Amino acid sequence: MNIILIGSAGSGKGTQARQLVKKFGMAYFSTGDQLRLLTRKNTPLGREVAKKISAGELISDEIMEKILADFIDKNQNQSIIFDGFPRVLSQAEILKKRLANIGGVNLVIFLNISKQEAVKRLASRVICRQCGAVYNKNTNPPRQANICDRCGGKLYQREDETPQAIGKRLENFYEKTEPVIEFYRHQGVLEEVDGEKPIKAISAELIKIITLLDTEPN
Ligand SMILES: [Zn+2]
Repeated sequence: MNIILIGSAGSGKGTQARQLVKKFGMAYFSTGDQLRLLTRKNTPLGREVAKKISAGELISDEIMEKILADFIDKNQNQSIIFDGFPRVLSQAEILKKRLANIGGVNLVIFLNISKQEAVKRLASRVICRQCGAVYNKNTNPPRQANICDRCGGKLYQREDETPQAIGKRLENFYEKTEPVIEFYRHQGVLEEVDGEKPIKAISAELIKIITLLDTEPN
């Protein structure tokens, strides 16, 4: 089974994806994690990606396809949950091609939150420099201020998480991702979930949707 989680920054999709991974024992493909992993490797591709990221350049579809192909290769016969991928329609096409022989995309969950809510959440967000774990100073604080619960790394606020920068990022997300959402809606695999509910309520809803899908007769 292959599942995609779509949601803007601040929708809580990373948190939800990690919980689903734990609950169902799925492989986890996060664009952010994959790119971070790659940049730590001293390979030609790793160096190229690191250079692009520090220059603020987008990672090309070609590189994303290579990362994706490697991941699928390493996680054969496993269900995969995708977080932050596909972001744009061209990536949805790549995913379709790459998953064609292993069941395709079974379910796409769209965690929908309003722009105002996203801005509110992101402005209080801090991230671990070491492992990328995300905390919220209000709703999901670390046990010790500015220290990551998972790895002890230092937490920081992203420069692009000022209210103005957040507004711009969200507009960019809606513009690029709306066609992806429509693409999956058209295929009949899209489930829209209210992302403004409490984290636990959303988790319960997602688990129910996936369990139902898993027990459906083919
Ligand atoms: Zn950490």
